[in-house]
Amino acid sequence: MRCEIISVGTELLMGQITNTNARDIARELLPLGVGVYYQTVVGDNGPRLAAVFEQALKRAELIILTGGLGPTDDDLTCETVAEVLELPLEKSSIWEEKLKEFFSRFKRPMAEINMKQAMIPRGGTLLLNDRGTAPGIMLEHQGKIIILLPGPPREMLPMLKAQVIPLLREKLLEKGSLAVLRSKVLRVIGLGESVVAEMIRPLLEEQTNPTIAPLAKGWEVHLRLTAHGSSEEEVEELLASKAGEIKKVLGHYIYGEDEEELELAVARLLWQSGKTIALAESCSGGLLCHRLTNIPDSSRYMLAGLVTYSNEAKANILGIDPALIARVGAVSPEVAEAMASGVRRLCRADIGVGITGIAGPGGATPQKPVGLTYIALETDDFNICRRYEFWGSRLDVKERASQSALYMLYRYLIEK
Ligand code: ATP
Ligand code: MG
Repeated sequence: MRCEIISVGTELLMGQITNTNARDIARELLPLGVGVYYQTVVGDNGPRLAAVFEQALKRAELIILTGGLGPTDDDLTCETVAEVLELPLEKSSIWEEKLKEFFSRFKRPMAEINMKQAMIPRGGTLLLNDRGTAPGIMLEHQGKIIILLPGPPREMLPMLKAQVIPLLREKLLEKGSLAVLRSKVLRVIGLGESVVAEMIRPLLEEQTNPTIAPLAKGWEVHLRLTAHGSSEEEVEELLASKAGEIKKVLGHYIYGEDEEELELAVARLLWQSGKTIALAESCSGGLLCHRLTNIPDSSRYMLAGLVTYSNEAKANILGIDPALIARVGAVSPEVAEAMASGVRRLCRADIGVGITGIAGPGGATPQKPVGLTYIALETDDFNICRRYEFWGSRLDVKERASQSALYMLYRYLIEK
């Protein structure tokens, strides 16, 4: 089934908001095997919206419109769709009641213009919206399905997931065209995109079903496997077996799947080993601690995360010799190691991590450029300190520092 998504709103055209609705709708349609062939954006303008909608009717079987369902004069989607389809608007008594209830619940007087939102094209099915005053509408017209959804994502998304997708699934089943399409993402750390592609080249060359798409994502490489078939089981089996082949080649460079972040992989390894950890961060400003404590149950490994930003804090809290800092500078392998070892001792942790660097844009010297960062890890029987030169904004440097520290932890825990 060919789908077109029409996003309505002048603020989208002007770049004032990002069209997250089109992305989210396309994403939800994918597992149904519905192909989104076009995404169109049009302003709050009747004739132009009518033209776009007429064009969509010619080239798609499923048309989903979002935005422009509000009560004001610039909200034209419902009227325009009804006009093009030559359907009269009729008052929905169900929605009229809902509107009255909505306004009395919030103790607000209802403006006359709100009644406009109870007017539905003849034959339309209401899609309930419990977060706003605009209902969604589904129309079936000459073999086409047309769906109207409100613009605000907090209204649109729950309606899409709870009502539109199940309805479409039913329709597709009726038409016998429900294909099962599933994706699985394998997350790779520590290798660049081209190295990954080279390593799995034979698999990339022979790919059919599943397809394999490598993409650089943040500081990682993601491999998206997409399989289609006629049943869940068939598709899951195809994905699992291809993922197995790839894992044989890439081994521990694959740290997780789908939404699993690197901090979760590290957390799992910490749980398995029963080890505790303490952090002393400088340029990363606590981001490593933030990420490691985003995992529920992080208290089982995380003892403390200190942000020792100033030289005084490094000396007074971690017990680093001020003479050492004066001699080699705060951004140095010696200080990174002293931070890791200081915080480990202070907190009686199994693993200590120290991060020190220059986040920029100021603070650089000819010997120490912006982005220069040292990360140290210390345990009873192992220690390592690495030098990095990150580039980008302050936030980029912080993110790369936390990512590299997580990778260091991951490697250490895997190899132990
Ligand atoms: P309302 O009743 O709030 O007027 P509406 O259905 O008329 O809802 P719009 O007026 O088009 O929707 O948009 C309302 C708000 O919803 C926008 O200001 C914007 O914040 C958000 N929005 C609309 N369309 C999109 C979109 N495609 N992606 C992300 N956000 C959107
Ligand atoms: Mg509006």
